[in-house]
Amino acid sequence: MKLIGHFINGKKFLGNSKRTSEIYNPATGEQSAEVKLASTLDVNQAVESAKKAFESWSNRPPLQRARVMFKFKELIEKNTDELTKLIVLEHGKVYDDAKGSLTRGLEVVEYACGIPQVLKGEFTENVGTNVDSWSVRQPLGVCAGITPFNFPAMVPMWMFPMAIACGNTFILKPSEKDPSCSIRLAELLFDAGLPEGVFNVVNGDKEAVDALIKNKDVVAMSFVGSTPVAKYIYENCAKNEKRVQALGGAKNHCVVMPDCDLDQAINGLMGAAYGSAGERCMAQSVAVAVGNIGDELVKKLSKKVESLKVGPGLDKKSEMGPLITKEHLEKVKNYVDIGEKEGAKLLVDGRNLELQGYEKGYYMGGCLFDHVSKSMQIYKEEIFGPVLSVVRAKNFSEALNLVNDHEFGNGASIFTRDGDSGRTFSSKAKIGMVGINIPIPVPMAFHSFGGWKRSLFGDQHMHGPEGVRFYTKLKTVTAKWPSGSRSNPEFVMPTMK
Ligand code: NAD
Repeated sequence: MKLIGHFINGKKFLGNSKRTSEIYNPATGEQSAEVKLASTLDVNQAVESAKKAFESWSNRPPLQRARVMFKFKELIEKNTDELTKLIVLEHGKVYDDAKGSLTRGLEVVEYACGIPQVLKGEFTENVGTNVDSWSVRQPLGVCAGITPFNFPAMVPMWMFPMAIACGNTFILKPSEKDPSCSIRLAELLFDAGLPEGVFNVVNGDKEAVDALIKNKDVVAMSFVGSTPVAKYIYENCAKNEKRVQALGGAKNHCVVMPDCDLDQAINGLMGAAYGSAGERCMAQSVAVAVGNIGDELVKKLSKKVESLKVGPGLDKKSEMGPLITKEHLEKVKNYVDIGEKEGAKLLVDGRNLELQGYEKGYYMGGCLFDHVSKSMQIYKEEIFGPVLSVVRAKNFSEALNLVNDHEFGNGASIFTRDGDSGRTFSSKAKIGMVGINIPIPVPMAFHSFGGWKRSLFGDQHMHGPEGVRFYTKLKTVTAKWPSGSRSNPEFVMPTMK
């Protein structure tokens, strides 16, 4: 059986821990590998090598750091097919979707290639007579990232290219459910010329995470995952005096206005609700049908959901792949049971789907609920599967209130032809990422990604300008060079004259 270890100090390393976890191919249900679960000792070893590497890496001119990123970008492009297959074989999503997610990660690398421009500071000549002042952003030190199973390449790449380009060193703790992609990315970075110790991957579970939280040499932590763990990371990193950004779960609403192009909205909803089997933090799991559009919406949607092509991710005909694990599949099906008991109307039931030749794979068909209400558990909680709930709202303001009253605030969209509704929605929604006639409004790499409310604990979003702010600290220097006149001591607060 293939054994996946860690990548520390420029080398693959199996570590000292005896604990392992099993990796399955979700398409077949067969075990494909075992992954080592790092001990505290393994983690501390990675931190030690990152700490050592920081001294010289942080001193490298930004242009030299950018050159490594340019080379890394080339290597990702050259190895796209291999990386994409690694994602499909461990996560299960369909090939083109996996490739698209890799591209979104690659775009962050492209942004990081421009780091010399982005890190330029500010300078003011003569803030006082003969006094100049400038501000620069300097790297923090050893940073760490903890990532979820649903985007094994993209989410880590929201973090480490930015951190490294800014001059930090980095420890990535990927999801123990699909760890192979991270190790391959580490090898490619090393091949791109990154010095040893600058980027390290430790595989593991809570023990590795807690070791990173407790290690005083880790100065900043980026987290993406579920809300309870995000909150735990936020609180405990703060307790341990670390800078922290912790992105959590979501329940994204799509408001369908009566004046919209309904076919456009339905196509958008299909991809956003069932793409990646709903295992996306930006998945749209609630469609809010406004006014009289509900009946036509559910009629057309039902037909499309019934004809969804479910199959293995490497089959080009598949539109939706399996879920990540058997346990997750059971959890999602259980939510569908709950929804029925709560009185929501199950229009399409995908629970009993079986695929010939893939009987042990973790498949289910798309599910569609109508008449879901605010008080139901299937509305309040994140299901993270191919289950779409339709909620009926009398008018625009009722729809907006639904969005704003929900505990999560990651993404939301509106489909409308009316500029006023679109503009009011984007202005008033208490949501981090808003789409107008765009079903999955994931910001490009040169903007920043992040939600509001219980979808993000901390202040800074990921990648783009906020990523640079997160991975650097500001220093402002005020300087005066004597030019003939010598001043006497002053005992009052300095004011520039
Ligand atoms: P998860 O919270 O179970 O795990 C995320 C990471 O935390 C993993 O690396 C895991 O090993 C670690 N972890 C798990 N339990 C832990 C614990 N008790 N203590 C310390 N570390 C722990 O999340 P997941 O199931 O891998 O991913 C799905 C979740 O991620 C969903 O809630 C989804 O919405 C969220 N997500 C959010 C975003 C976003 O941008 N907001 C993006 C992707 C995924």
